[in-house]
Amino acid sequence: LETVRLLSSSQVITCVLNVVKELIENSLDASSSRIEVKLENYGLDRIEVRDDGCGIKTADVPAMALKHYTSKISCHEDLEHLNTYGFRGEALASICAISEVVVTTRTADDDVSTQYTLDLNGHIVSKRPSHLGQGTTVCVMRLFKNLPVRRQYYSSSKKCKEELKKVQDLLMAYAIIKPELRITLTHNKAMFWQKAKVSDHRAALVAVLGAASVASLLPFQHRQEQPQIAIEGYFPKPDSDLNSTSSSTSDKTFIYVNNRPVHHKDILKLVKQYYAKAAHANSDSASHRFPILMMNITVPASSVDVNLTPDKVQVLLENKDAVLLAVESVLISLYGSY
Ligand code: ADP
Ligand code: MG
Repeated sequence: LETVRLLSSSQVITCVLNVVKELIENSLDASSSRIEVKLENYGLDRIEVRDDGCGIKTADVPAMALKHYTSKISCHEDLEHLNTYGFRGEALASICAISEVVVTTRTADDDVSTQYTLDLNGHIVSKRPSHLGQGTTVCVMRLFKNLPVRRQYYSSSKKCKEELKKVQDLLMAYAIIKPELRITLTHNKAMFWQKAKVSDHRAALVAVLGAASVASLLPFQHRQEQPQIAIEGYFPKPDSDLNSTSSSTSDKTFIYVNNRPVHHKDILKLVKQYYAKAAHANSDSASHRFPILMMNITVPASSVDVNLTPDKVQVLLENKDAVLLAVESVLISLYGSY
């Protein structure tokens, strides 16, 4: 049984990035306005995520890290209008199975915060009062302590640096879609990256990518019924030099479905086609660097399936063709048709 548990957990939580993602999403589901992420030794020794959200009710504490416990849905119908990032009750249980977890939490009704130490099965083994304000702090220590091969794999300095970069990119994605959120990333006690609270998506893009990159972006909106699709975001102006829009060396494409950062190959491919065409018309530089894009696609929750992969970054869209057509109509209005 232990082995089965370990195996299934190690599939949900495959790297430091997954842990951070799950903890951030829990903080966002708890309506936090401030999130601090602290890593030690690239997260392998310690990952701490602190928020100022609603906290965990004392009654919910014993079950919080049990497999399939979630406070977020209570019946099947809830899945139809899901607006939380989490709903499967898998993350905390899986993280407990492969590390040492301490959760400190305080709701608005509690006088003090309480610190809970969990065991491999997600059971609470000890608790004591502590001194934190409202919100929740989850501390994950010695990740993969019982998966030595995986720990070894992630310990190489190349892999560590890659992971840290991915964590930063992920936090950027949430920082852009949640302008009001204040977020910090600390590594080995040094500030690595941060974003202040701002008022809208454009200001969030400026905060994350810099004013120079964002100056060449145009806002766009598309709304339609049957099927119901809304698309909004920012694309580079057609007359901007699409080859140098991004000052960074990596892709800065932020695509969301219902506020959830996703990887969607078909959408990306479509966008790249139009960019390539527009870039070609505007510049003689042959090297094509991929520019900035921010696009949030809103569809009824019942028409999205995010359960394709455990990390929920790949989504199945019920009306994929209609969504692609809608994206294309936005691209045509900006860059012209073929
Ligand atoms: P899920 O997010 O799918 O519900 P998790 O295993 O991620 O499952 O979390 C289990 C439960 O623990 C959540 O449903 C929630 O009640 C509680 N919880 C976890 N993290 C937080 C947090 N940062 N703030 C408030 N509640 C939390
Ligand atoms: Mg969760």
